[in-house]
Amino acid sequence: MARVRPGRITVTWCLLAVGEPRVVAIALALRLADEDVTAFHRKGDDNLTAAYQCRASTGSSRWSQHAYGRAIDINPFQNPYRKDTREGRVVLPAYATAYLDRSLVRPGMIVEGDVAVDAFDAIGWGWGGRWNTLKDWQHFSASGN
Ligand SMILES: [Zn+2]
Repeated sequence: MARVRPGRITVTWCLLAVGEPRVVAIALALRLADEDVTAFHRKGDDNLTAAYQCRASTGSSRWSQHAYGRAIDINPFQNPYRKDTREGRVVLPAYATAYLDRSLVRPGMIVEGDVAVDAFDAIGWGWGGRWNTLKDWQHFSASGN
């Protein structure tokens, strides 16, 4: 685990209108200096379980459910994002292609009927592993998006 040194944190505010006109969610993100982020990614596999991220959806200009704090990505390396396009296949993290074969279940993988899927089903959250147009096996969200 990398240590964050004092004075090396940038604070970014995200103001997001949520649902009803009067409700505004204020979320706070901590942006680490590039070298600190590199330290977090030391393994080079982008395998960081994360929930809140102030960002757009992958391949979109719309806010991600992560920007509202209503989604979580679990073990991204073992549960990558996969989208097939005319230009080719997008896999994120890029080096996680070995985990596209979901029939060979290995530690950290999320599969139908396991404890992670059952737990999120129990609270009504959707799983990206069930999407038809693309697969995002790491992703669970309150909206199902
Ligand atoms: Zn996600």
